[in-house]
Amino acid sequence: MKSVEIIKRDYPLISLQFSFSISKYNIHRVDEMIALGDEREIPIAFNVINIIRHYSYGDIDEKGELSATNQEISDAFSRILKAKKNGSHILNSEMYLKHFIGGKKPYRCHARKVFMFVNSNVDIEDCLRLDKPIANLRKVSVKNAMSLPRFQQYLKDTEKCDSCNSPTMIDTSYAWEDWGLLTKSGGISFG
Ligand code: SF4
Repeated sequence: MKSVEIIKRDYPLISLQFSFSISKYNIHRVDEMIALGDEREIPIAFNVINIIRHYSYGDIDEKGELSATNQEISDAFSRILKAKKNGSHILNSEMYLKHFIGGKKPYRCHARKVFMFVNSNVDIEDCLRLDKPIANLRKVSVKNAMSLPRFQQYLKDTEKCDSCNSPTMIDTSYAWEDWGLLTKSGGISFG
């Protein structure tokens, strides 16, 4: 919080935001964070931790024991949505919050058509087979990598997955199917 005060005072052009990843260990502090954001006039974005990671040899529940229950997440997101409608500066889209209210909904992932994840070894990540990167960008250009049959198949396969819980993946996937959501009331307005 001291850093926040210093940035607000000495670097007013820096855009500050709180980012809060919900787990079972902090979900009881959601309301406190909303109040803190309101008090300090700092917008806040919530997300739910991912628990499943995919490998060529199967899916691994790497963080399941860290996750809050569906009911707890639903209740917290209902309160976050209410706070947003009452004027708290919550960065999440209403659609994202509603996605978890009443239990997480299925969705068709389109995120990897928009974002390419490249690791420090310049491997293009395959989020469905994390141990088997698609190509290395020292050996192939981005354009050629995207033309590889494996990359094209990967994009098709990602449409059958909905394991990520982040606003990046979920909002992007909704927007891919209906760009009108970017301007509709209650849709996906960022910020
Ligand atoms: S939801 Fe999308 S980005 Fe996340 S692991 Fe599945 S395919 Fe990959």
